[in-house]
Amino acid sequence: MALRRGGAGPVKASHIGPGDALVVVDVQRDFLPGGARGVPGGDEVIAPLNRAVSLFERAGLPIFYTRDWHPANHVSFKARGGPWPRHCVAGTEGAAFAPTLRVPQGAVIVSKATSPDRDAESAFQDTTLAPQLRAAGVRRLYVGGLATDYCVRATVLAARREGFDVKVIADAVRAVDVQPGDGQRALQEMQLSGAQLTSRC
Ligand SMILES: [Zn+2]
Repeated sequence: MALRRGGAGPVKASHIGPGDALVVVDVQRDFLPGGARGVPGGDEVIAPLNRAVSLFERAGLPIFYTRDWHPANHVSFKARGGPWPRHCVAGTEGAAFAPTLRVPQGAVIVSKATSPDRDAESAFQDTTLAPQLRAAGVRRLYVGGLATDYCVRATVLAARREGFDVKVIADAVRAVDVQPGDGQRALQEMQLSGAQLTSRC
């Protein structure tokens, strides 16, 4: 199936307005190339996301940053039989946002998967993200970050279930692709859920 691009084309200031929010998913050091759970090309999301951050900031629209924020004994780690190397342990260097990612004052940071025995790929799981978005009058999310086939996918699908419109910034996501094509399949799944793809800012 060919990927359909969303009708809106590039994100421009004229496209966004009241009711829109930007959600930057897990752009943390451990998910960058060379990190504990590095995503190939993961650093390439930073420039398009910084452009989106600037657009939303200038428009006075809310910006949310999600982060994996695990306890040191998290269930997803290999030491506990999970699939992943130790990553994004709360408060460590690896859990910090990418050094060149712009994080303006006033941005909201949402920490997820903070309990030892529960993993959470979706930023909506066990967090207050949905009520925070509703309290801010948000109806539509622009989403980018890492990784397409894990936390971006889960966050977008959950956002659709929560009733938000979603635009995935296609140039601002990168996939792990444990199996070749995982990222493309995830994008298709997001589109089938009603999310749209939009090209770079
Ligand atoms: Zn994790």
